[in-house]
Amino acid sequence: MTTRRPLLGCIADDFTGATDLANNLVRAGLRTVQTIGLPDAQAPAIEADALVVALKSRTIPAADAVAQSLAALRWLQAQGVQQIYFKYCSTFDSTPAGNIGPVTDALLDALHGEGRGFTIVCPAFPVNNRTVFKGHLFVGDVLLSDSSMRHHPLTPMHDANLMRVMQAQTRRRVGLVAQDVVAAGPEAIAARFAALQAEGVGVAVVDAVSDADLLRIGVALKGMRLVTAGSGIAIGLPQNWDRAPDAAGTASTLPAFDGLGAVVSGSCSAATNGQVAAFKAAGRPAFAVDPLAIAQGQDVAGQALAWATPLLADGPVLVHATAEPAAVQAVQAQLGVEQAGALVEGVLAQVARGLVERGVRRMVVAGGETSGAVVQALGVRQLAIGPQIDPGVPWTWAPTALGVPVHLALKSGNFGSADFFLKTFH
Ligand code: ADP
Repeated sequence: MTTRRPLLGCIADDFTGATDLANNLVRAGLRTVQTIGLPDAQAPAIEADALVVALKSRTIPAADAVAQSLAALRWLQAQGVQQIYFKYCSTFDSTPAGNIGPVTDALLDALHGEGRGFTIVCPAFPVNNRTVFKGHLFVGDVLLSDSSMRHHPLTPMHDANLMRVMQAQTRRRVGLVAQDVVAAGPEAIAARFAALQAEGVGVAVVDAVSDADLLRIGVALKGMRLVTAGSGIAIGLPQNWDRAPDAAGTASTLPAFDGLGAVVSGSCSAATNGQVAAFKAAGRPAFAVDPLAIAQGQDVAGQALAWATPLLADGPVLVHATAEPAAVQAVQAQLGVEQAGALVEGVLAQVARGLVERGVRRMVVAGGETSGAVVQALGVRQLAIGPQIDPGVPWTWAPTALGVPVHLALKSGNFGSADFFLKTFH
C-alpha cells in the first residue's frame, strides 16, 4: 500500500475559515483532512493530499498567534508538505496590531530567513463576491470599508486599501500585482513577482476579480514556499501537482445523517442576522441569548437548554446571540468588546455541548469565533470534509469527546443564503 504524503500544509486563523478552505481543496480534487489545533505527537500519520490546521488565532494577541502558527508550521513541515498556505478571512479580518502581518512575517522568516522571502496577499473569493482590484477589497459592489464589515464586533474594517492595511501590520515592504498583469497570465504574474522582489518588496497584494484570475495566479504560485490568502486561491493550486486527484465524489463522502438538528449562532454579521430572521419568519423556534444576563451571573446556558429540550423532537431549534449592530455596540459599551465576546462564546459552547448530550447530531454553528469555541467544547480533534451546502460551507463530520459523532456545518458570518438555517436540514 502506498502512503499518500501531504503536498500542501495549511494554517487557518479560524475554524470556519479552515472548513471553507478545506471545502475548496476537496472540490479541486485534493483529499483533505482538517485538524483542530495540532494533533498529539503520538497521533498516527494522516494520509491526505492536503492538511488544514485550524487555529483560533485571528483575534488573540499577535505574539500568541505567531507562536501557534510557527508550531503549526513545524508540524506541517514534519509531515513533508511542499507548500505552506496561511489562510485568513476573505474580508481580511485584522487590526493594525495583526494578526495577518505578524504571522506572515514570522512564517517567511522561518522559511527563508529573517527579513527575506516573498509571498502574496490575496483574500479574493469571487464566488462569494469578494474581489480585489487595484489593491482594494470589494464585498459585493462596495468597498470593504463601506460593507457591513465596518460594524464587526471584533475586527471592524475601515480601510479597503489592502496595501495600506497590510503595510501597517508587516515589517516587509508591500507591493501590488494589478489585475491587468493577472489577466496577462501566469508568466506575466511570475515576472511581476520577480520585479517586485528585485525592488525589495516582500509581500505582494494580488488583484483577482474572477475564478479565471485565481487559476492564473495559482500557476504562478508553483514553488512559492508560502502563500497567504483567503480560501479562493485554493482552487488554483492543485493543478501544480501531477498527483491524480480524487474523484470529487469520494473526496467528500460522509457517514449518513441521523439524530436531531439545531443551530447555534454567535455571528452578528449581516448575512447571519438575515438567516436568523428567515428562520424565525418560517415559524421555527428561536432562543435569544442576552449577554447582559450572562454578565449578571444568570445561568443562560441552562435556560436555553431547558427551553430547547422539549422542542427538539419537532425539528431544528435555534439558539442565538446574533443581534443588530446597535444592540451589539450597546452591550460592548457596557462589558467591553473582548469580555462580551468571551461571555457569549462560553455560553454558546455550553449550549452546543448540552444539545449534543440531548441527542443533537446535526448542528449548524454560525460565526468563526463561535465555531472555534463550540468545536473546542465538543472536544473535536479532526473533521472529515463533506459536500458543500453553500460556497465556503461544507457539511463536516467529526467524532467528539462525548462519545458520539456529530455532523457540523461551521458557517462563517457572512456566508450562506438567507434560508441557510432552513435548507441545511432538508
Ligand atoms: P463572524 O463569523 O460573523 O465574525 P464570530 O463568531 O467570529 O462571527 O464573531 C462574533 C463575536 O461577537 C463573537 O465573539 C461573539 O461571542 C460576539 N457576540 C455575539 N453576539 C453578541 C452580542 N449580542 N453582543 C456582543 N457580542 C456578541
